[in-house]
Amino acid sequence: MEKPSSVVVIGAGIVGAATGYRLARAGYQVTIIDKGTPGSGTSHGNAGGIVPGAMPLGTVSALKSLPRRLMDPNSALAIRWGDFPHLLPWLARFIGQCTPSRAEANSIALYALTSRSPEAWRELSRGTAAETLFRPRGWLKVFESEQNLITGTAELRDVLDRRGGPYDILDQDALRQYEPSLSTRFTHGFLQPDGICCVNPRRLTETMVAEATARGATFEQAEVADIETSEDGPRVILADGRAINADRVVVAAGVLSNRLSRKLGTDVPLRAERGYHLMFDTPSEQPHAPIVWGETDVVICPMEAGLRVTSMVELSHPDSPPNYQLIERKAAMARAMLPSLGDAEPREKWMGCRPSLPDSRPVIGASEKDPRVLLAFGHNHYGLTLSAITAELVQCLIEETEPPVPLLPYRAIR
Ligand SMILES: Cc1cc2nc3c(=O)[nH]c(=O)nc-3n(C[C@H](O)[C@H](O)[C@H](O)COP(=O)(O)OP(=O)(O)OC[C@H]3O[C@@H](n4cnc5c(N)ncnc54)[C@H](O)[C@@H]3O)c2cc1C
Repeated sequence: MEKPSSVVVIGAGIVGAATGYRLARAGYQVTIIDKGTPGSGTSHGNAGGIVPGAMPLGTVSALKSLPRRLMDPNSALAIRWGDFPHLLPWLARFIGQCTPSRAEANSIALYALTSRSPEAWRELSRGTAAETLFRPRGWLKVFESEQNLITGTAELRDVLDRRGGPYDILDQDALRQYEPSLSTRFTHGFLQPDGICCVNPRRLTETMVAEATARGATFEQAEVADIETSEDGPRVILADGRAINADRVVVAAGVLSNRLSRKLGTDVPLRAERGYHLMFDTPSEQPHAPIVWGETDVVICPMEAGLRVTSMVELSHPDSPPNYQLIERKAAMARAMLPSLGDAEPREKWMGCRPSLPDSRPVIGASEKDPRVLLAFGHNHYGLTLSAITAELVQCLIEETEPPVPLLPYRAIR
């Protein structure tokens, strides 16, 4: 193939924005296309964690606890039963990923990327306006008793031990010192010290696009209707009828990516794991980094513009109406975590779709039909974490250079 010079990136979520910036920095003529504004999709509202995660969603214990968690109205897992037919093929494959050997392979594939992510973000943001958005504070889970910590982290500790991932156990004194804003009901903490966090994921996405355009890239607000391929190269067809030719096309359209990928003959079992957030005004004592309540899966996240409370995995169709009750129920839990919240009421609620494959691995690779079209989506719970390393891997695919991580586990058809 001829040496490429122009690239169209479809999607200005964090995956497309990071990729667009990296390619513009490398001298490519980049066009980033999004039907909305940069960061207006799922990348707007996440918890801000850049976490060396090693646990796939599907494990033996996750499968065993599935019926109980689905029936419990207070659990962080829900399903929109009306969307069950749409979800069924994904669920069937997900169950197949819950065996010990599949879960181990998925953990290895996930950690190969997540463990490189903090450094990949430091490198990508260096010298840009995004540098100031990161905090090196680790990723903290807290528990109400030592026993709950032991049982609640047993699987994760086991997996991190096998992967060589660092963690610290904090007793009550150490926890108090580390995070004085937290309620005294928490007696123990589990800290992954190599995690970092971002205090404004939307602004990070916007900044990546702005840094790309400062290096000659173009941002086009338009919906992509199709991708055609011919000997002359790929061609992106916009919904308004215009066409854009490029040497390479990157599909980074989040949960909607398969609508384009399918047109190229690569049909991927991508579904939405919807998550929610509430935004509160900044409390008098703001935590220093995101904190997960281990027993409830409620996360409080300090953001530039207030305190964010995130939770829920709601399996559903991405176009179904949001069910904000799922997150409104968690406001009381956030108040219980952070006494300085008092009886504050949230000022905003939000829902976003984690783009998810049954094996918890992203798709990073060439399309089956035309290797000039690259697929970069399906980053599930780790889209912020994985976007900088994904950008690096996409550049390797374009330049046909040796990637820092073997790409076989992330090919679309697997
Ligand atoms: C509550 C919650 C908490 C989370 N917390 C974390 C966390 O702490 N750490 C972490 O790493 N991840 C987290 N995530 C996951 C992370 O937010 C996602 O994985 C990530 O945002 C996905 O990014 P993306 O670029 O793939 O998708 P998106 O941000 O959804 O971007 C896709 C873009 O493509 C555009 N698009 C789609 N189709 C078309 C089309 N045909 N034409 C033009 N444009 C199109 C959309 O408009 C959109 O802007 C969380 C998610 C949720 C919901």
